[in-house]
Amino acid sequence: MISIRDVNKYYGAFHVLKDIDLDVKRGEVVVVLGPSGSGKSTLCRTINRLEPINSGTISIEGQVLPEESGPLSELRSEVGMVFQQFNLFAHMTVLENVMFAPVQVRRQKRELARARALELLERVGVGAQKDKRPAQLSGGQQQRVAIARALAMDPKVMLFDEPTSSLDPEMIKEVLDVIVELTKAGMTMVVVTHEMGFAQTAADRIIFMAAGEIVEESTPQEFFSDCKTERAREFLSKVL
Ligand code: ADP
Ligand code: MG
Repeated sequence: MISIRDVNKYYGAFHVLKDIDLDVKRGEVVVVLGPSGSGKSTLCRTINRLEPINSGTISIEGQVLPEESGPLSELRSEVGMVFQQFNLFAHMTVLENVMFAPVQVRRQKRELARARALELLERVGVGAQKDKRPAQLSGGQQQRVAIARALAMDPKVMLFDEPTSSLDPEMIKEVLDVIVELTKAGMTMVVVTHEMGFAQTAADRIIFMAAGEIVEESTPQEFFSDCKTERAREFLSKVL
């Protein structure tokens, strides 16, 4: 589903992604772990081509992502992304937030987009909030709306970049539960998280990044019981 080959990226002289190779199979859940500053967000943003790369290729379902240009927005819409900050449109209702891209980007009929949005809001457990503005919702509810909004574009892949990091502890589970439900529904996902319980139970594969490199790649069982590198051991000693 996603194929990343020999990707390098620089911010000026700073080498932020180093020879990244990664394949994500259809339906697979890849959890990306690593210390702050290791390049996890940059990797997500390059997969979504919010950030250009300096070399290498990224393809989604065999289609190589083009450089910034026309067909890009179409491809990007096949990759749903959920950020730490919910980034909902503050002046729109919850329902309008979820309908926006299907209507504006996909040119869906409003009635169709509305029916689908309502279905998705129910699925993530915030159907009753449909007419409220984002600011009237809890952080956990806002993040679930953000997930519904991403799903409304029928993405082939969902990227989550620390989706629970800005939530109060009691709201983390309600968002993780929605993500777990998506894994069970067979969604292909890349999830950057510091929630180690989630990583252990939901991941098919763990990618450990440090200083712009993929340092380890293994099953959660292997990674959490017997990781291979000193850098991963040191990381785990701090987060577990
Ligand atoms: P992570 O998500 O793992 O914490 P990031 O991908 O956000 O890491 O950042 C990786 C490194 O790149 C960090 O050292 C960060 O300071 C740097 N960086 C991130 N975004 C930019 C940017 N737009 N310009 C310059 N440096 C950046
Ligand atoms: Mg980050």
